[in-house]
Amino acid sequence: MRKPLVMGNWKLNGTKDSVTALVNALVPAANDASAKADVAVCAPAVFIGMVENLAQGSKLLWGSEDCDVHTSGAYTGENSPTMLKEFGCTYAIVGHSERRDYHKESNECVAAKYKAAQENGLIPVLCVGESEQEFDAGKTMDVVKAELKAVIDLCGIESFANAVIAYEPIWAIGTGKTATPEIAQKVHSDIRAYLASFDAEVAAKVQILYGGSCNAKTAPELFSQADIDGGLVGGASLKADDFKSIIAAAVANA
Ligand code: PEP
Repeated sequence: MRKPLVMGNWKLNGTKDSVTALVNALVPAANDASAKADVAVCAPAVFIGMVENLAQGSKLLWGSEDCDVHTSGAYTGENSPTMLKEFGCTYAIVGHSERRDYHKESNECVAAKYKAAQENGLIPVLCVGESEQEFDAGKTMDVVKAELKAVIDLCGIESFANAVIAYEPIWAIGTGKTATPEIAQKVHSDIRAYLASFDAEVAAKVQILYGGSCNAKTAPELFSQADIDGGLVGGASLKADDFKSIIAAAVANA
């Protein structure tokens, strides 16, 4: 039985005041949900220490939106997995489509970040997903398999025993165009089948989140699908009430 996980991705948003209000509102919701679902927020690095202070001792988990491959050194502007771990992060998102696109991160670069995160005690949240053009051309699984294979080649299939996958069709991110539950379920089940071709036990256990305009309205039906184990939520994770409704949808489908 896979425990659902609802994870917020704040992207480049937040102020000291908004982070304080949001985390204070989410801590009780995460505590209430914790028997049935895990709740996490991935914050801009500059806010991670604040989130740690506010959420410490609660069931609300936190993570980073990216992580460097190095643990220290002359890499200006980066955040290392050891630093993130020291500030209590449980998760590190790697390979978000915005980083693949704006920062030109290749599948190999993302796999290296996944490896560095895992080797330093973080759970990598590997984002995969196709563009609208690739979706229209029927290439979704070609793209997603290549993204997964880069990680399997570098870290082994067994690494997914301690990782999370987020299927995020790029055409659905921040656009309000959520994938239908049927489309999302089909891709999730194809991802699981692909992993099962390497190791059935690992495939059955790995959490696969859906991301892309997941909100209070769409979450209940998405989360009721057999292979959807929760959500990676951008915009709707910035509003406490919306995010709490999404958490409630995960609890209801646990
Ligand atoms: C995301 O950034 O991971 C995401 C899914 O964003 P949104 O929910 O805003 O589409």
